[in-house]
Amino acid sequence: MLGLARTGIASVVALVAAGAKITGWDDRGDARDAAAAAGASIAPIDAALLAECDALLLSPGVPLDQHPVAQMARTMGKRIIGDIELFALARAHLPAHRVVAITGTNGKSTTTALIHHILMTAGIEAQLGGNIGLPILSRAPLAAGGVYVLELSSYQIDLTHSFAADVAVLTNITPDHLDRYGGDFHAYAASKERLFTMQHSDAVAVIACDDDPCRQIASRINHRLIRVSAGDIRLDDQRHWPALQGPHNAQNAAVAIAALRALGLDEAAIMAGLASYPGLPHRMELVGEVAGVRYYNDSKATNPDSSAPALAAWPPVGGKPRIHWILGGRAKGKDIGPCADWLGHVAHAWLIGEAAGDFARAIGDGAPHSHAGDLARALAGARALARAGDIILLSPAAASFDQFRDFEARGDAFRALVKEIGGQDGQS
Ligand code: ADP
Repeated sequence: MLGLARTGIASVVALVAAGAKITGWDDRGDARDAAAAAGASIAPIDAALLAECDALLLSPGVPLDQHPVAQMARTMGKRIIGDIELFALARAHLPAHRVVAITGTNGKSTTTALIHHILMTAGIEAQLGGNIGLPILSRAPLAAGGVYVLELSSYQIDLTHSFAADVAVLTNITPDHLDRYGGDFHAYAASKERLFTMQHSDAVAVIACDDDPCRQIASRINHRLIRVSAGDIRLDDQRHWPALQGPHNAQNAAVAIAALRALGLDEAAIMAGLASYPGLPHRMELVGEVAGVRYYNDSKATNPDSSAPALAAWPPVGGKPRIHWILGGRAKGKDIGPCADWLGHVAHAWLIGEAAGDFARAIGDGAPHSHAGDLARALAGARALARAGDIILLSPAAASFDQFRDFEARGDAFRALVKEIGGQDGQS
């Protein structure tokens, strides 16, 4: 096993409990100590060791296509798997259950949490896992009738071979994470498609057909397919779902509704769950309201494709744009992609971090903007200009690593700053 962080340790514990012999390695000493305490032997992974093993277990954080150990295992014809494959192999021993798996470039966590929430509020036991929350192997198994709801990144799909989801969901596919696929968009899309090719013939595929790559995958499905679109959601309905605003959340709601119908939930239970869904931190999260100005933390938006829906969510009122947009950080590119289409919603943009120069050029004459440097100065500038009814939105369209440990630290810093100026968490 290579990579002994949280998911790795959960795999070690599960494998040791199942009577397997496991040898692991991680460059970090504390991770090695934790794995040893969980019952793994510790040794660097070389060809001699691999020759004795049935499979190489990888953490999804290890680049499958580039890491020398993965390359060595491939040359030797060893199976390379991850924790989701272990879960797939363990399913035969679990009480009767169903599995919903969600993938896509954006909206995975929201859709996963939403499906889980609606199942729970409908009285069906459900367990979250995969790319969200605790590793699935560290969760207690569900009693008969339960539903596992798993968020899967393409890296996790790459590490599984026999994972047959009862309902598989695809939200969208846009270029991202291409570094892991040698810049090859087709390889990235093909990785997502494998979630569907691994399904059995009596399973259900739910695909949002709002982009070309998703439509192409849908056209190749041979089992039951439910095609949906963000446009299926009526604005009148969406108004009743406070944590699911904007066109992107219409897409997330559309796939979730189809998946839940496929699981047999009735409309009333689905509608009640959509209305009571509380939302996830750092995704268009309302963190405060001061003097009629609402503050939203969308720190999870680390690329322009993710920020665009947030900009789309608040149109001008009385012809006046309302969004004071804080953006910047470490960008993957120089442009603002689809955000350019929504600059008419932006009252003023505040630029922070390394991307400030490139993003300022990309905004150009599209909206007034200023260089703020850091989050505190951006917030102070935005506050000075914002009037009652306006929105101050942190939706950076860039990664956080130039100024913060991760997007959570960036969002937490924003929330703390809002609190300092008198905004209570989520209310006025
Ligand atoms: P993921 O888990 O796929 O990264 P999240 O649900 O955590 O997705 O959302 C990440 C970011 O992407 C958020 O900032 C959100 O505004 C945006 N987003 C959410 N759903 C969608 C969607 N269906 N299409 C485009 N962007 C989305």
